Amino acid sequence: PPAALPGPFAGHGQTSDGFPVALLANVGDPRSTSAAVDVGAEGIGLFRTEFCFLDRTEPPSFDEQVTAYRSVFSQFPERKVVVRTLDAGADKPLPFLTAQGEPNPALGVRGLRTARHTPSLLDDQLRAISAAALGTDAEVWVMAPMVATAIEAAAFAERARAHDLRTVGVMVEVPSAAVTADAVVAACDFVSIGTNDLAQYTLAADRQLGELAELTDPWQPALLQLVELIGAAGRRAGKPVGVCGEAASDPLLAAVLVGLGVTSLSMSARAIPAVAASLAAVSYDDCQHLARIAVEATDPADARRRARAALGT
Ligand code: PEP
Ligand code: MG
Repeated sequence: PPAALPGPFAGHGQTSDGFPVALLANVGDPRSTSAAVDVGAEGIGLFRTEFCFLDRTEPPSFDEQVTAYRSVFSQFPERKVVVRTLDAGADKPLPFLTAQGEPNPALGVRGLRTARHTPSLLDDQLRAISAAALGTDAEVWVMAPMVATAIEAAAFAERARAHDLRTVGVMVEVPSAAVTADAVVAACDFVSIGTNDLAQYTLAADRQLGELAELTDPWQPALLQLVELIGAAGRRAGKPVGVCGEAASDPLLAAVLVGLGVTSLSMSARAIPAVAASLAAVSYDDCQHLARIAVEATDPADARRRARAALGT
C-alpha cells in the first residue's frame, strides 16, 4: 500500500469554504501513472502521449497506441483522463514526425501544427484514443497542444468529434490563444493552460535556458494577466479552465490561479498533497484577493512577497 500522505488530501481538492478545484496528475510513462494512482489523484489532467513514443523512428501502429492508452485509462475508472495529442517538436522531438533543421524549432512545426503535413497521424491517434476509451470506464477528454487561433481550435474539435470523442479542448500556451480566449473557449468544451510554454512565448525566453529562468518564472505578472484573461473567458462561457504547467505545483501560486478563474490543476503526482493542503487553508475570497495582488505586482519576487504577507506566512 502507498505510504501515508502529508496534509488533508482525501481525493477531492477544495478551498476552506468548499469551492472545488480538481487536483489532477500529469503523466507520460508507466511510472508517473502509478505515482498518480498511489497519491489518489482525482484523475489525469495531462497525459503527454509523446512520452510513449520518444525513442521511435517509425510512427506507432494503431494497435500499439490503443495498448499504450488503454493501460493508462484502465487505472482511472470513472475518473477524468485528459489525453493530449502528440506534442512533437522543440524540446520534445519525435524522429518520425519532427522536421529537422528548422532555424527556430520552438516557433516551428510542432504540436498540432504537425498535422499540416501529416494529418493521417492525427486521425490515427484520435481513432486509437477513441478505441482505447471504449474498453474502459475512464472519462476520456482529448486536447491539442500548440494551438494559436480559434480557427485551429474549431478544426481540431471537429476532427476529434468525428472520431466520437465527446469532450474536446485545446491547450492555451501561445499568447495569441490567450488574447483571443473568448473565441478559443467558444470553439471547444474546455481549455488547459500550459504555463511552461505560455511563459516562454510571452516573455520571449527559452524555457530550457537556466540563465533566463527569472523571465520564465510562473509568477511573472505578464503571464498571470494572460491567465486572468483565460479564466474570465472560461467563467463567461461556463466552461472548465485547467492549468497543467509547472505553475500548478506551487502551493501558493495554486491559490492565485484559482482566484484567476482556474477550475482544475494538474501537476506531477508528488506535488498534489502540498497543493491540496494549501488550498484547504484559504477561502475562495482569499484566492481572489491573492490573485489581485499577484497580477498587480511589479515582478515575480514582489508578487511572492506580497502574497505571503497577505496570508501572514
Ligand atoms: C506547458 O507547456 O506548460 C505544458 C504543460 O506542456 P509541456 O510542458 O509538455 O510543453
Ligand atoms: Mg507545452
